[in-house]
Amino acid sequence: MDTILVVNAGSSSVKFQIFAFDGGGRPERQIKGQVDGIGSRPRLRAANVKGDKLVDRDFPADSVRDVPAALHVAGDWLREEQRITPLAVGHRVVHGGPDYDRPVVLDHGVVARLERYASLAPLHQPHNLAPIRSLMTNLPNLPQVACFDTAFHRAHGALADHYAIPRRLHEEGVRRYGFHGLSYEYIANALPGTAPEIANGRVIVAHLGNGASMCAMKAGKSVESTMGFTALDGLVMGTRPGQLDPGVVLYLMAERGMSASSAQHFLYRECGLKGLSGVSNDMRELEASADPNAAFAIDYFTYRIGLNAGMLTAALQGLDAFVFTAGIGENSSSIRARIAERLAWLGIALDPVENGRHASRISSAGSRVPVYVVPTDEELMIAQHTVALIWKHQPGQKRESAS
Ligand code: AMP
Repeated sequence: MDTILVVNAGSSSVKFQIFAFDGGGRPERQIKGQVDGIGSRPRLRAANVKGDKLVDRDFPADSVRDVPAALHVAGDWLREEQRITPLAVGHRVVHGGPDYDRPVVLDHGVVARLERYASLAPLHQPHNLAPIRSLMTNLPNLPQVACFDTAFHRAHGALADHYAIPRRLHEEGVRRYGFHGLSYEYIANALPGTAPEIANGRVIVAHLGNGASMCAMKAGKSVESTMGFTALDGLVMGTRPGQLDPGVVLYLMAERGMSASSAQHFLYRECGLKGLSGVSNDMRELEASADPNAAFAIDYFTYRIGLNAGMLTAALQGLDAFVFTAGIGENSSSIRARIAERLAWLGIALDPVENGRHASRISSAGSRVPVYVVPTDEELMIAQHTVALIWKHQPGQKRESAS
């Protein structure tokens, strides 16, 4: 059976998955792995779909210095020990800029264009693009596809897309893009099967993980997002503050002498649940903690979600359903219950038993707005896009395997 490799590359780790597919069928996940500790303590780990460990191996720091080297290590292991030579690669690329509203087959021209968006996502875009460039050089005939976190939101109307700043900055790319688009697209595609009665309605999807945002969807299309120009805006996250008066950043720079790069580090790494609690960025640890600041951080997290849900309900002019997804949304019944309490004014009420067992529909029979838990799968979304783009539209594509 043919396979494709799905790559999600960050600054210090590369996550990868192998999907098998035949013809027009849905790709089936085979292997999940990652190389982390790039440049410090490189480690390759992978498991099959049942969770059985396939490899757990350390490498000398010198041998895996950067993201392309990490992908190379994974490719060598796949080829030499698993006998897998993927026929195409699908990449998660955080920013598609103003132009890309769907996945795209990569060539040098597209990569050059995507490089221009590095300044819009400096922490992610360069790491996403580095392995693409390296594979293009080493395996020029290997088909590669980029799937963007911004693409699903590109159909937003002008009101949702603008900031109230001079228009020339909008033209330059300073826009409200929105992120987590692959997750929302997966949910939009899953809803007709999971909850057909609401799939065409007005739905808020809450992607609550280490990164967190909410999307207002109308008939499966994004109309508004809590995230904007960068993935800093909107909800409180593990280490990011969410919505913040820009005056705070001016204060940090003018009064506390922070440089742009230290402000960036502060905003991406030191704020959010971590900064507020002083305990952890991890919701499980906060829920287990007896520290009152941990309790406050959780309260604040749910309070801000409630406020933002009100905003998105206004954007949708009503609400037909609410969906939880991602690490916290899929796994924490207590956080879901707290959020539902804050949304009681919208007519939301949970069934504690269904919520406790993480059922698909967790609202009570009397809830005016039904509430669902839908596990997300961004990698499957990338795999599906890659198969569709490479094999449906270019069936005669010359094939070259990844290494
Ligand atoms: P993600 O970024 O989607 O992987 O989500 C990571 C977040 O989900 C972290 O804050 C975890 O603590 C949180 N999470 C995962 N499982 C649970 C759980 N059972 N209860 C509470 N939070 C959880």
